[in-house]
Amino acid sequence: MLAAAPESLLASDGRHFDPAKVMTTAMRNEKPGGHGDRAAAVGAIELAIWDLNAKLDDEPAYVAIARAYGRPTAARSVDVYAAGGYYYEPGRGKTLSDELNGYRAMGFSAFKIKVGGAPLADDLKRIEEALAIAGEGSRLSVDANGRFDIQTALAYAEAIAPYKLRWFEEIGDPLDFALNAEVAQAYDRPIATGENLFSLADTKNLLNFGGMRPGRDIFQMDAGLSYGLTEYVRMIELLESRGFDRTQAYPHGGHLINLHIAVGLGLGGCEAYSGVFLPFGGYPAECALGGSSVQPSDASGFGLEQKQELKGLLADLAA
Ligand SMILES: [Mg+2]
Repeated sequence: MLAAAPESLLASDGRHFDPAKVMTTAMRNEKPGGHGDRAAAVGAIELAIWDLNAKLDDEPAYVAIARAYGRPTAARSVDVYAAGGYYYEPGRGKTLSDELNGYRAMGFSAFKIKVGGAPLADDLKRIEEALAIAGEGSRLSVDANGRFDIQTALAYAEAIAPYKLRWFEEIGDPLDFALNAEVAQAYDRPIATGENLFSLADTKNLLNFGGMRPGRDIFQMDAGLSYGLTEYVRMIELLESRGFDRTQAYPHGGHLINLHIAVGLGLGGCEAYSGVFLPFGGYPAECALGGSSVQPSDASGFGLEQKQELKGLLADLAA
């Protein structure tokens, strides 16, 4: 808002603000959905309790989580992919290939890129550029960040089908379950959604009306955005009661907390934001990363103190 050109916020009389323009400006570069603030606030507190409890027993959080829910407590690695794949203006130096090659050098062999920020023909070129690095469609996902209306969604679904991509993520508005269901009818590759569902009730609506398919589609609900692990486990139990497998759950977020949750609960895997969304994004060197899997370290709690970018901030909080 502060950076906006004044006329871009004003009504045509030049004297009053145009509330609709103000709202559009405030929402620029924001995703749709996410209608609520309590879920994240409660989630922060609830997850801090898991961190504290694990530290009291001097054990990693995934061990505490696994024990609490009757899962195996042995360390294991989970599937991970590098999320990002942003847009770069031509002639400005960095390219999509540069970004993905950077992730490959870190040990990733699966990737996710954005779509919907350019016309379909341009996005298809970006997908082909990314496939040259990923090697095959099963190692590349695309994420529309909830942008598409049904016509655009179906056009993209038809155009990307031949690439046999790993999944097509957040195709339309996260609460437009009818749109999700219609795309699922038309597109037989996996669909991923759920990062902007913030409660068990939202998840129930997705299952009731979103056309999600057992054994195929991917659920990305995130304990940190939806009241914490207690609520998240209820979502997983609901999925299982409806015939889905917990390996279809890949929590959104790309940080240590969801890595521990994925390992502790035996989920399909998680994403990684390496070098993005700092200081929380990405994993410290102590987490074994390679062959597209990642394993938590044996630091106690969620191990956030091992993240160099967080260390100083956490020390300040404790002082
Ligand atoms: Mg996403």
